[in-house]
Amino acid sequence: MKQKIKPTKYITNMKYFKYLNYLFWHKWYVMLECFDEGLYWRGIIHDLSKFMPNEFFPYMSFFYGKKEEIEQSEVGYFKSLKTGNDKYDRACFIHEKRNMHHWQWWIQSNGEALEIEEPYLTEMICDWVGAAKAQGHFLQTTINI
Ligand SMILES: [Zn+2]
Repeated sequence: MKQKIKPTKYITNMKYFKYLNYLFWHKWYVMLECFDEGLYWRGIIHDLSKFMPNEFFPYMSFFYGKKEEIEQSEVGYFKSLKTGNDKYDRACFIHEKRNMHHWQWWIQSNGEALEIEEPYLTEMICDWVGAAKAQGHFLQTTINI
C-alpha cells in the first residue's frame, strides 16, 4: 500500500530553505560590511564553513527546528556557553575554531588570549554588524579600530 505523505512533512522541510535564506542574507550583509572596510576576499569567503554538514544541520535544527528545541538567549544573537542543545553547542565550537574571525579562535588551551590580528578583527566587527542587519536590526555603526 502506498503511504500517504503528510503535508506537515513538507512544512518541516522548509527549515532547510529558511536556514539557507538566513545564511544568504547573513553572508550578504557581512560581505557588504567587509567591502566597506576593503576586505574583499574575507567578505566573499566569510562563514563558508557554515555550509559543511557538521555546522549546517545543527544550526538549522537549532534555529528552525521544533520550537521546544530552541533555547535562544533573550537577545537572540548572543549564545551562552551551554544552550542545552549539545549538537548545536558542538557545531558552534567547531565553527569558532575553524574561523579566525571569532574571538574564541584566539583563546589558547591555557585560557590566555592572543591578540586578534587583522584582518580578522575587522571581519569580526563586520560579522556582528552584518548579523544584526540580517536579523532586522539596522544599527548605525562606525568601525574605529
Ligand atoms: Zn562565523
